Amino acid sequence: MITGKTQVCGLVGDPVAHSVSPVMHNAAFAALGLDYVYLPFRVQSRYLAAAVGGARALDIKGLNVTIPHKVAVMPLLDELDPLAQRIGAVNTIVNDDGCFKGYNTDAGGFLQALARGGFAPGGKKAVVLGAGGAARAVCFALADSGVQMAILNRQQELDWAVGLAADVAAFCGNDIPALELNDNNLKTALADADLLVNATSVGMSPDDNKTPVAENLLRPGLAVFDVVYNPLKTRLLAEAGAAGTVTIGGMDMLVGQGALAFELWTGIQPPLDIMQKAAIEALRG
Ligand code: NAP
Repeated sequence: MITGKTQVCGLVGDPVAHSVSPVMHNAAFAALGLDYVYLPFRVQSRYLAAAVGGARALDIKGLNVTIPHKVAVMPLLDELDPLAQRIGAVNTIVNDDGCFKGYNTDAGGFLQALARGGFAPGGKKAVVLGAGGAARAVCFALADSGVQMAILNRQQELDWAVGLAADVAAFCGNDIPALELNDNNLKTALADADLLVNATSVGMSPDDNKTPVAENLLRPGLAVFDVVYNPLKTRLLAEAGAAGTVTIGGMDMLVGQGALAFELWTGIQPPLDIMQKAAIEALRG
């Protein structure tokens, strides 16, 4: 029940209608009996500053931020967590007595999912596909965990990969190659890799017949992580599983980033199983 004391959290993005975050967070609030509610707010880019100002005026407790506002929201905040600053994107805002502080929980959510999948990153070698927002969070999370990596992105946007590789290299001090995403480079990079991360949107519904990696490049001993969570089992994960690799899906990362945001707002660790069940049911419609 909404009361006079109910704390309001929400999501700002455009679109937001497809998001499973409201269902996931409200299920966790209900399970813990917390007087909180989570609402979706569709905010067009031209209204982003007004929306953040409105959230301050309405004393909204916390926000998630999604496409296309994760970068544009940064200068509208009072403080940035160093990890969010490094990644260059904010997906969570905490209202701390009127001070709006930006965080990035995608990186921590990714590491939680890796841990739940039984992959210990320290000293390993990874190949990351993509150079967008998800890839930036993944690369900094891996670098922070002592993983060496190569970044592969499609040719026409290679500058993004070069920029990301330079940023990560400056952070961790390792050489990070940025290469065109093609079969030859994949074959070479995967030869001695322990982990492949698809951080592109290739394979996402409705294009779920697509995969970024040819099946014959997958082998036992290579763990495969797909950040795509819709469908739950992407073609890449299905083919990786058939090739005998350990597979980890984007749903674990989605729940992980949500759980970290929840904890930042409430100070309480939410029940992951309840969040995951709610998110999967919401995805299935
Ligand atoms: P983004 O910033 O738009 O980046 C998309 C990336 O995918 C870019 O590197 C892009 O390459 C690449 N890409 C798109 N189409 C491609 C194609 N046909 N072939 C090769 N590369 C292609 O998006 P994002 O925010 O990083 O999201 C990427 C995916 O991650 C989405 O599916 C999103 O739902 C998922 N995601 C999951 C979580 C989670 O918690 N599980 C969190 C965040 C995002 P170019 O640079 O060449 O365009």
